[in-house]
Amino acid sequence: MPESFIQHYLRSLPAVDRVMQEKILTSIAAEVPRTLVVEAVQEIINEKREAMRRTAGEEELKNIDASPSNLALEVLERIRDKMELNLRPVLNASGVLLHTNLGRAPLAPEAVEAVKNTAVHFTNLEISLKTGRRASRYEHVEELLCRLTGAEAALVVNNNAAAVLLALNTMAAGREVIVSRGELVEIGGSFRVPEVMAQSGAVLVEVGTTNKCYLRDYRRAIGEQTALLLKVHTSNYKIVGFTASVESAPLAKLAGEHGLPVMEDLGSGVLIDLTRYGLPPEPRVQDSIAAGVDLVTFSGDKLLGGPQAGIIVGRKKYLQEMKDNHLLRALRVDKFTLSALEATLRLYLDEGEAARRIPVLRMLTGPVGPLQARAQKLAAELDKKLGRHYTVSVSGEKARVGGGSLPLVLLPSFQVVLESLQISAGELVQKLRKARPPVIARVKKDRVLLDLRTIREEEDGPLLETIVDALT
Ligand SMILES: *Cc1c(COP(=O)(O)O)cnc(C)c1O
Repeated sequence: MPESFIQHYLRSLPAVDRVMQEKILTSIAAEVPRTLVVEAVQEIINEKREAMRRTAGEEELKNIDASPSNLALEVLERIRDKMELNLRPVLNASGVLLHTNLGRAPLAPEAVEAVKNTAVHFTNLEISLKTGRRASRYEHVEELLCRLTGAEAALVVNNNAAAVLLALNTMAAGREVIVSRGELVEIGGSFRVPEVMAQSGAVLVEVGTTNKCYLRDYRRAIGEQTALLLKVHTSNYKIVGFTASVESAPLAKLAGEHGLPVMEDLGSGVLIDLTRYGLPPEPRVQDSIAAGVDLVTFSGDKLLGGPQAGIIVGRKKYLQEMKDNHLLRALRVDKFTLSALEATLRLYLDEGEAARRIPVLRMLTGPVGPLQARAQKLAAELDKKLGRHYTVSVSGEKARVGGGSLPLVLLPSFQVVLESLQISAGELVQKLRKARPPVIARVKKDRVLLDLRTIREEEDGPLLETIVDALT
């Protein structure tokens, strides 16, 4: 194609001022800052110019609509994007309950209310209402954590990685920590036991092999320099086959015999008995404490279903040392986290209430029957509204917990299956991801699956509307 031909089309692109005069753009002048509109117009014109330069033939060039009215429409769409917050709610139809990329656990209504109140008003974050004197922010949740876990004391920091770091630094800086080789876990790429250990100043002593570790391995490694025995819950993988590992109770007993503390990083902080809901047993925080473990660390936003936080429970004397460690100041939690956590923990005072009110637990323990009914209803409505370019059906694939919890558990679930007769599954999920609000789906065998295990019932309506809006 001759260069002059492209030049002709490029010259036909309207000027910024011309697009600005379009009625749909002048009509929003009162609500949108002018600089933002100008910026969006320039962006869209530049993108059109680039698109023209990239074209291979005349046919393609002719298909680029560079009329002022069409550019204005695209500008309006761009402005809508720019006016929206970057961090925004999405509909999680991925079937993965705890997705670090999707912000892990959504909060219970009680926790949301607590955060809202804390945000709007001043609070007694660090003042005792009894004495009027300065108090610790950590006290608001300590008693509750002790009650729920049976521990003597508790402390909350920014996340579980911080909890492990603070505990190791306090307990073992400059000394040795004994860990089984089969428990040197990596979580989500950025949390690795050996690296956190190095950061804390403690020296890692590995014992056993990848698949087998016995009590005698720990016993043999104990020496002058030993500060702590550490057990790490392999929360995102399982070693199966010819394996052996040491349970918390015998490990705590061995540590006790040598006057050493034992710590357990549980990862996901489970407080309820999951077997009651037909799920495999997962160690609960209170079980570790009862087994004699001196310190237990876990996340606030995994199976606990609360805000991002790292929780440390255990012996008072060790917790006091952590409270006196200056590192705590750098890892401290804010008032929003504390209020969401307190409200979430209160729900656990009644286990049934926790399972009903905490979204993650509800999704984890809920029966599959209603999911099937909802999937069928949603599929029927989508089929009606999407028209002949799509086929809609229902499937019964499994959902997953994700987020480094219960790696082998497959949850029974139902999905609405979407297939387009014109675009690929990849393009279809992308369209859904760009919807308002974004819909996060998964692709399997070139079909798009919308899993209802991770969609709340009250989200069914918005989900339907959003999909129809995005695809028609
Ligand atoms: C998830 C996890 C962590 C990290 O917790 P964050 O709250 O993400 O910092 C540490 N250890 C284990 C065993 C985990 O499962």
